[in-house]
Amino acid sequence: MKNAYILVGPPGAGKGTQAELLDEELDIKLIQPGVFLRKEAEKDTDVGVLIRKFLAHGLIVPNQIVDKKVFQVLKKVKKDVLFDGYPRTIPQAEKLYEFLTEKKVKINFVMISLQDSLIMERINGRRSCSCGETFHIKYNPPKKKGVCDKCDKKLFIRSDSKKNIVKKRIELYKKETAPVIKFFKKKKRVNFVKINGAKPIEKVHQDILVIFNDNGKD
Ligand code: ADP
Ligand code: ZN
Repeated sequence: MKNAYILVGPPGAGKGTQAELLDEELDIKLIQPGVFLRKEAEKDTDVGVLIRKFLAHGLIVPNQIVDKKVFQVLKKVKKDVLFDGYPRTIPQAEKLYEFLTEKKVKINFVMISLQDSLIMERINGRRSCSCGETFHIKYNPPKKKGVCDKCDKKLFIRSDSKKNIVKKRIELYKKETAPVIKFFKKKKRVNFVKINGAKPIEKVHQDILVIFNDNGKD
């Protein structure tokens, strides 16, 4: 692993959408704790039930549960890594930063910004697949209504998409994740890039690709 790319942004900014596009195009390892957690939450195991409660209330799942899974993958990975929606808290950020700097991995912190007024529209129209694909009824509709283009499974509306829950997730983002942005911004050797998430999906994708291409030239 030479490079790590960290996608951070408010709910609905397009992290998942961009992560999937990059994953299709590049030879990278995608780490999406949110997708993993939503899968776990469907199971009736102790952890599954626990995770379900946190997600249903729009809360951040305890660090230990998320970190365990993330570092299991990280310790084995050889390719460059792309994080979608991780780290979300300062303890997660510190631990990840330490791991990556120790291994001399270049950290590329990609902040996708989106104003509050657009967040609701994005999330209201979002349709998700358990494979990780994300669609939007207006901005990125699936070819066949209600069905995933990639794997043909039925699309669903995420349980954390209700209006009051989204509000809570935006609040939590400002409280827990905004400090994470500050944390990485202050680090000298981190490549910190801000991307305007309000642009169309393909434009945002091109803006992010520039970061990958620049690293390829090193
Ligand atoms: P996040 O992972 O940051 O919560 P998603 O990738 O799930 O965000 O995107 C939220 C919703 O907005 C989805 O329905 C997605 O299809 C749509 N979307 C993502 N990026 C854009 C964009 N640039 N323009 C319009 N809609 C977008
Ligand atoms: Zn799918």
